[in-house]
Amino acid sequence: APTIGVFALQGDVREHLHALQRLGVDAIAVRRPEELERCHGVVLPGGESTTMIKLARTFELLEPLRTRVAEGMPAFGTCAGMILVADRIRDGAPGQETVGGLDITVRRNAFGRQVDSFEAELEFDGLDRDVHAVFIRAPWVEEVGPEVEVLARVPASAPEEDAAGRIVAVRRGPLMATSFHPEVAHDDDRIHGLFVDLVTKS
Ligand code: GLN
Repeated sequence: APTIGVFALQGDVREHLHALQRLGVDAIAVRRPEELERCHGVVLPGGESTTMIKLARTFELLEPLRTRVAEGMPAFGTCAGMILVADRIRDGAPGQETVGGLDITVRRNAFGRQVDSFEAELEFDGLDRDVHAVFIRAPWVEEVGPEVEVLARVPASAPEEDAAGRIVAVRRGPLMATSFHPEVAHDDDRIHGLFVDLVTKS
């Protein structure tokens, strides 16, 4: 079984570890460069992207992670993790850096202040039934590069008119990202399963 790390500096780490364990992979929490070296793929969880990037630097994980991603290691970013894998951010904190690798522009905290959290059923490319998506102060994807596949969009029934049709899941090669939190979906590990398939294939 492949070893998949979950960045464990901050954010909702445990739920990702559990989903990966249910899928039969060797799931490890990553806090140190030696742990990252063991991984065939990593999950960057939700949390707070500004805090996470600062901690990644402090823990000397930022450059090793950039290098591994540039070398083709699969990575899956959820919510704050999507911001980390994005090449470009709008509404970031002043000077906010990313790990980068995925040719997308994300808008941080995009869904607005009134409705900063919501749930929706989404069609997801590659899955035969809709997924239940939980959005918590989520980013959306404003621009995608030519090779980026759009996997999911907000449905027309979204609470804010501006949100309908927004891109909330993408993939390019071994890099995948969702605006929402698949790790909190009950009894549904299918999106993690797609990432495990990416890791297994690479
Ligand atoms: N708003 C957070 C950020 O900018 C992301 C929220 C989340 O991961 N649930 O990092």
